[in-house]
Amino acid sequence: MTNRRAKAKAVQLQQEIMAGNQGTGGVQGSGSRALDDMEELAEFANDSDSDPAWTPEIDKPGEFVADQSDLAQDYPPIWRVDNKLLLQKYVPFDDQSGKILYRHVSTYSAWNEESKKKYVRIPVCVRVLNQVETIVEFLRNEMPGHNTPRGEGEVARNTVNQNQLVEKSMDETKSYQDVFEVYIQTLISQALDSNFLKEIFQEQDDYFLSRVKSIDSLTEDRRRRLVQITPWARTILTSLATFPAYDVMVELGQNGMQQCCGACHQPGIAVRIVLQGQTYNSATLAPTAAAPAQQQYDKTFQLCQTCSARFELLHKICHQKYMMFVECAKRVNQQIAHDSSKAATAILNELLADEHWLAMLFKEVRSIWAEIELLERLYRLQTGSQQ
Ligand SMILES: [Zn+2]
Repeated sequence: MTNRRAKAKAVQLQQEIMAGNQGTGGVQGSGSRALDDMEELAEFANDSDSDPAWTPEIDKPGEFVADQSDLAQDYPPIWRVDNKLLLQKYVPFDDQSGKILYRHVSTYSAWNEESKKKYVRIPVCVRVLNQVETIVEFLRNEMPGHNTPRGEGEVARNTVNQNQLVEKSMDETKSYQDVFEVYIQTLISQALDSNFLKEIFQEQDDYFLSRVKSIDSLTEDRRRRLVQITPWARTILTSLATFPAYDVMVELGQNGMQQCCGACHQPGIAVRIVLQGQTYNSATLAPTAAAPAQQQYDKTFQLCQTCSARFELLHKICHQKYMMFVECAKRVNQQIAHDSSKAATAILNELLADEHWLAMLFKEVRSIWAEIELLERLYRLQTGSQQ
């Protein structure tokens, strides 16, 4: 780990974080909302990943199956064909690296001609196999989307398909893990020394810059694609990209039904959103002075339910780097609060050694990227346009 410039500036840092952190995190239940809204999209069965060679034969002991109705869940329970008469249940757990694996529990279910109709064979990969336990990974990506019957299974299959797309898309960005770790190292260093990013730009420090740019450009690509499929007035898009925080107030009663959404102009508003926070330079994260033009920013918007979910996602992708920085700064502050004499390098190394934390951050970022890719794909299907 190199961090030659990291210097602890505890007091200054804390003031900056206090100033920058006001009002963030005012929303709950983020992320999944937009996906939920899209789950009803009916025409989504034509995924080209289907595998005609897949057979429904699931008689062999040792194979894994899942109840088709459970497949709508992100991590459904799965079952191992234990013998000719029984299924043993496997339940999901987090293996501490951000990956969801499955281990068995002592729950069994009947395995007969009648119950077999409910199940579908699923691909798994054995991770641990010894006398004490068997741990497997459910390879959802390798599962074709066409093996549930038409009709009742339609909605479930669409959801499964979308989950598969999100997982596939998340897998595609997994290879950036090493790059991402240097990215986080850079943001921790910035939290320890507020000149860090400015200096690496001035000195054209390629080690850090190339990696920061790599992650930034992935985020920027998703931001651009999400804006492209969001036909909102430029004033809203500019404002939400400018201010790193916002408050959400739920609009109740008659008032909400009579007014129109400020983004899509349909009647009925659900929330009032008020942007706030210190404006900043997106490259160096340094606070920027309040320019006179800033008075022209619209900062209050009344939005319908659907648009408020889109607002949330847009805000996340626009301020992703800043939010990651706030996360790093919080952890740095905790360390300093615990031991104010701790060296900056020691703080940096300790945070970077927290693999679970890094994995969580990386997963969060990839899930936002993936969610946008899914929304874009659904949009193209809906409008029949190609890209
Ligand atoms: Zn709206």
